Amino acid sequence: MKITGYRCYLVTLPPRRVHNWASKMETPIGSHLLLRLETDEGLIGWGEAPAIATWGGAHMSYFGETPRTVHHMIADYLFPVIVGHSPLEIGPLHAAMDRVVKGHPYAKAAVDMALYDLAGQALGVPVYQLLGGAYRDRLPIAHSLGIMENRQAVAEAERAVAEGAGTIKAKTGLDPERDIELVRLLREALGPGVQIRVDANEGYRSVSEAVRVTRAMQSYDLAFTEQPVADVEALALIARQVAVPVMADESAWTPQDILHIHALQAAELISLYVTKPGGLFRAREVATVAEAVGLRCDIGGSIEMGVGNAANLHLGAATRIAELASVCPVSRPAEALEGQIAGVYYLDDIISEPFAYENGAVLVPQRPGLGVQVDERKLAKYAVAL
Ligand SMILES: [Mg+2]
Repeated sequence: MKITGYRCYLVTLPPRRVHNWASKMETPIGSHLLLRLETDEGLIGWGEAPAIATWGGAHMSYFGETPRTVHHMIADYLFPVIVGHSPLEIGPLHAAMDRVVKGHPYAKAAVDMALYDLAGQALGVPVYQLLGGAYRDRLPIAHSLGIMENRQAVAEAERAVAEGAGTIKAKTGLDPERDIELVRLLREALGPGVQIRVDANEGYRSVSEAVRVTRAMQSYDLAFTEQPVADVEALALIARQVAVPVMADESAWTPQDILHIHALQAAELISLYVTKPGGLFRAREVATVAEAVGLRCDIGGSIEMGVGNAANLHLGAATRIAELASVCPVSRPAEALEGQIAGVYYLDDIISEPFAYENGAVLVPQRPGLGVQVDERKLAKYAVAL
């Protein structure tokens, strides 16, 4: 089997509500690149790049990609080095991509996902088996509250918990007093059984501000604090002064980042993505290093559509240390939404069948490859070919 062709689409889904975080307050979610990879045997593989221009690491490292930069990288650099090769040669194809492009992990992740989708279909196994097998068959969801007014956030959290969500993740980082009050209100409304965590997306202005806010939140049984500031050295200073674990997200992209975090003892937890390291193959490397140095993780992302979310679920199934609830959406086409809001961020999706959701968890797809089918009608409705 050989890779013969590709198409790139810019897909824009309607969001259920505005979903903002401290480093992204201007642009809507849900404009992603979708990659269709074709083979000489007629198999089609899909990949997704939820690239957002404002998303990156500290001090402008891992600078923002967009669907159009991803398209440019695939068209002019990445596809030319994978065409004619077998999609089963995933490691060597990563090496070939890295030889022609430094960085641009979201573009490489889209290609990587499509390769795994093809490889799984060709071998008749779900992607998680290509990654070493499943430690779990479902991922408990963390329902993410974007930055919004506190009363609205509490009302949405109550509804998500009523629909089974066992973890609420509140976006914070812009207003310390608002953030402390929100955690207090959430604990009061949700009671003791629900995990509450916060993600400031690098938003606090100093170590001392982050420490003060986190200490105030601790009295409401906070599970952990995610990326309160940008800098990894600053994370380490915060970690020494608070009683809850620190999670690194924007500071944790590559295996080298994990070693740096470990050397500084900057975090006990990381948010593992398919996309930040450049795809599933590289994410497994990050997870291996993290496991070796005793870190645990969730599976994070950028509110992927059904294709990217399937990749997230396969990664979560196959990663032993992915023990924490994850912001994996409950991806569903409009016909199957049934009014649910827990884990639902879009009013429709480009996949034809809804992901199964049971008792606050999304089930990992079991069919070969990524295990999802793209609905051509939805593609025609929401996508433009690039
Ligand atoms: Mg995060």
